[in-house]
Amino acid sequence: MPAEMATITCSCGAVQLTLPNAVPKYRCGCCCTECLQRAYIGTNGTPPPFSLLEEPVDLLYIDSQIMRPDSDTLARLSVFKLNDQDAPNINLRSKCCGSVLVTENSEFHRPHTMATFNNLGSFLKCTFSDLPEPGFNVFTKDWTAEKRQALRKKEKLQYGKPLPQVDDPRLPTNEPAFVEGIAAMQLEANPKPEGSISFAELIDGMEIDVVADYYDEAHHD
Ligand SMILES: [Zn+2]
Ligand SMILES: [Zn+2]
Repeated sequence: MPAEMATITCSCGAVQLTLPNAVPKYRCGCCCTECLQRAYIGTNGTPPPFSLLEEPVDLLYIDSQIMRPDSDTLARLSVFKLNDQDAPNINLRSKCCGSVLVTENSEFHRPHTMATFNNLGSFLKCTFSDLPEPGFNVFTKDWTAEKRQALRKKEKLQYGKPLPQVDDPRLPTNEPAFVEGIAAMQLEANPKPEGSISFAELIDGMEIDVVADYYDEAHHD
């Protein structure tokens, strides 16, 4: 594998996705309950490390371009939506250990982008080069005022100033970092080497399960 490729590996190591672009397009923190619930599903109910640390999910927006997996790997992949067959997020999961590998949002990501989760510890290993600094935190409406304030304080120490908080990305906002992030999602995947496919091509023909698991901890606010 050339050094410039990235990998996303499930917790048991049987599934590894190889991505021809090792540099994420954008990075943000996500505080939404869906990310939290998805993380609980990927950890088979173990509290995810970021939630114990009271951190947002470290979301990496990456090219929707994957080196075509071999047949053993393909046989270990499945897709699901949370709670609703019309939900915009399609999640790719490994059957071996249950890790949630990437998600594609039909409203914001498709067709050039997907997202992965960088702070799930041993439950998902992401290897990218040149991680950008996170631009903002999103869906902070799903956190309490105290938790949002604690996050600002922590970031002030870490980055010198707190990241912008976009409470609800479905409402109009002029926050420049958010506008920049959305623009990055519209960029066409590059490179697209021979033997690589998009998320849509990868999951073509897979049946989409609807997972109705509900973890109380993901909704305690
Ligand atoms: Zn696995
Ligand atoms: Zn989220």
